[in-house]
Amino acid sequence: MCIFCDIIDHKIPSSVVYEDDQVLAILDISQVTRGHTIVMPKHHTPNVVEADDETVRTVFAAAAKVARFLKEKTGCAGVNLLNNCGEAAGQTVDHLHVHVIPRYGESDAIQVAFNPSEPQDLAEVLASIKG
Ligand code: AMP
Ligand code: ZN
Repeated sequence: MCIFCDIIDHKIPSSVVYEDDQVLAILDISQVTRGHTIVMPKHHTPNVVEADDETVRTVFAAAAKVARFLKEKTGCAGVNLLNNCGEAAGQTVDHLHVHVIPRYGESDAIQVAFNPSEPQDLAEVLASIKG
């Protein structure tokens, strides 16, 4: 059972922001900021690394379209596009989705902070990744 598939099948109500043959974009039930939207493919696929390339292209292109739409309609100052892939990354619903989060300024209830770790030897990091 997948809650997003149930939403797509109209078994669970949702607030539709955008829809086409391939994707559905709905307001997130937990509005991090006003207009917080999640964009998902209409067929079930668990996450971005297991999805086929065409689905990834389609969903991220739709997320960009929704970001443009929200920017125009809400007057927000910026937008975060966020994908959580895997439980360790905060994914709670195992149906690929991209969060589109309008940003209104410092009073937002979201903080995206890239706190640097200790300085790294990039050559060593690259070698360990690429083998
Ligand atoms: P993630 O943590 O990236 O998997 O995000 C899942 C998101 O789905 C959360 O932000 C939830 O608030 C949202 N969500 C869960 N159930 C619903 C629902 N019935 N309608 C809209 N959004 C939902
Ligand atoms: Zn699903």
